[in-house]
Amino acid sequence: MVDLHAHTTASDGTLTPWELVDLAAVKGVGVLGVTDHDTVAGIPGALERGEEEGVEIIPGIELGAKWNDAGQMHILGYHIDWQDRRLLDQLSWLRGRRRERAQRMVDRLNELGVSVSWERVEELAGSGSIGRPHVARALLESGHVRTISEAFSLYLSPGAPAYLEKVEFTPRGAMQLIRSSGGVPVLAHPATLKLADSQLETCLEGLVSEGLAGIEIYWAKHTAGERAAYGCLASRYNLVATMGSDFHGATKPGIDLGMGFTDEVDADQMLEGLSARRGRKLSAHEVAGDSA
Ligand code: AMP
Ligand code: FE
Ligand code: FE
Ligand code: ZN
Repeated sequence: MVDLHAHTTASDGTLTPWELVDLAAVKGVGVLGVTDHDTVAGIPGALERGEEEGVEIIPGIELGAKWNDAGQMHILGYHIDWQDRRLLDQLSWLRGRRRERAQRMVDRLNELGVSVSWERVEELAGSGSIGRPHVARALLESGHVRTISEAFSLYLSPGAPAYLEKVEFTPRGAMQLIRSSGGVPVLAHPATLKLADSQLETCLEGLVSEGLAGIEIYWAKHTAGERAAYGCLASRYNLVATMGSDFHGATKPGIDLGMGFTDEVDADQMLEGLSARRGRKLSAHEVAGDSA
């Protein structure tokens, strides 16, 4: 079994990289993509444990991108050189912006009379990429909400009083950063774009012209109809159809690692497709302009 989309404590997952790989081994996941938000800090530990447990690790990343006034998309990058200097610098810059934003969200909550300790939010994030899920957990712990999902709907989702936008790349910038570190850009969970079929196709066309190489079709929450529609688009645009659960551990309790689709998916074809689309790393002067 293959699962190409999973988070660790390096971002907003609740299992350490070691625990994640152990779980993969137990679940029979033989190839695991480690795709934390804006950080590669989980990769060395996962590689080390993967070697011990016989789980092949594909080093990955998940980047948010702002693609129009309304929307945010997530772009996965596979087979990245996670030691690439430029990648590390850009990710570190992004995490700095995340930190400022989280701090401002906590300030807003406190102004609203919903007291949350910044120290606790920092503690929950540890050395990882800080985000709304950590603020949500602090809200839950302090009894202001009953569930994580309530924390989002009352305070942290777009339109809610403590929500703040995140500084993000454009899709083109995100894909360039992935390409410049030798990686393969894949559109994550397209259903979350909430586009009609024809709009999605237009959007995809643009992304393909900017370097998109794959689309995540087999995602835990996609319906059979969505999988079929995305499958057509994948063939039309020669994109690799990938599978990923988006496992986060306790932060997303409904989602299990390696959630299957084994009858629908040709895992070898998926993995070969990704490998075949690996390019050479771009040098600094080939990477046009600033990504952000
Ligand atoms: P951030 O990157 O800080 O904006 O946080 C985004 C992350 O929050 C996503 O990757 C999800 O893990 C999580 N998230 C977003 N919306 C919800 C929700 N309604 N309930 C639970 N988790 C959510
Ligand atoms: Fe997440
Ligand atoms: Fe995502
Ligand atoms: Zn994810």
